[in-house]
Amino acid sequence: MNPPSSSLPDQVVITPVQAFSDNYIWCLHDDKAVVVVDPGDATPVLAFCKQHNLTLSGILITHHHHDHTGGISQLVSSFPDIPVIGPSGGHIKGITQAVKQGDTITLSPFQCHFDVIEVPGHTLDHLAFYGHGVLFCGDTLFSGGCGRLFEGSPEQMRHSLNALQRLPEQTLVYCAHEYTQANMTFALAVEPNNNALQQHADKVSTLRKHQQITLPSSLAVEKSINPFLRSHLQTVAESAKEYAGHTLTDEDAIFATIRRWKDEF
Ligand code: ZN
Ligand code: FE
Repeated sequence: MNPPSSSLPDQVVITPVQAFSDNYIWCLHDDKAVVVVDPGDATPVLAFCKQHNLTLSGILITHHHHDHTGGISQLVSSFPDIPVIGPSGGHIKGITQAVKQGDTITLSPFQCHFDVIEVPGHTLDHLAFYGHGVLFCGDTLFSGGCGRLFEGSPEQMRHSLNALQRLPEQTLVYCAHEYTQANMTFALAVEPNNNALQQHADKVSTLRKHQQITLPSSLAVEKSINPFLRSHLQTVAESAKEYAGHTLTDEDAIFATIRRWKDEF
């Protein structure tokens, strides 16, 4: 169990702001200040700030893709001098505080601390932020799935997902996209007899029927339903072998096969 001190301060909540067709910009806020994660679009963030009379106090960036970074410049012109915390390398315009594996960042308006975890795979610069029982994982871990491998290798992604899996089971998982329903369809193709998955898929389809959000998830739930966290299991290995049409020698090969299967699904 997480010690109570690790939960978010009482007055701090996390609210999703929707952007584009299926992005979530997570807003960590109290009644005065807000820190946003991956603002791909400034417009809905500025509307959120105005509606709740909040001052934007910081931006966290998980990776360089435009749907996660496109709003930075406009937000910074509306709220100058705020920290923009994200990957190093200088390739993301507007980053003021480049961070790396093992760094801890402090979000000063709330006295919150987040650890930086490097999670290459979807992109090579991808970071996750973990603190107070909360994980912002961008496009690395989705509910029921994982990010497409645009830059990294299957081995890198599996290693990154393993690092996230070592966090406490009750960790709440705040992914950057509403992909859960499509992921459930694929997960059921991999593990048709997984009871927990069948039940979760039903729950998700009811939520989506009413246009409701399926997030946050938790690591405990993901370990029971997400095929990309289950490549060590016999059921997943058997399905992957069948898809590949030949024997798969190790877990990396199993993981790579289900990632390719999802791409082709
Ligand atoms: Zn991305
Ligand atoms: Fe994305």
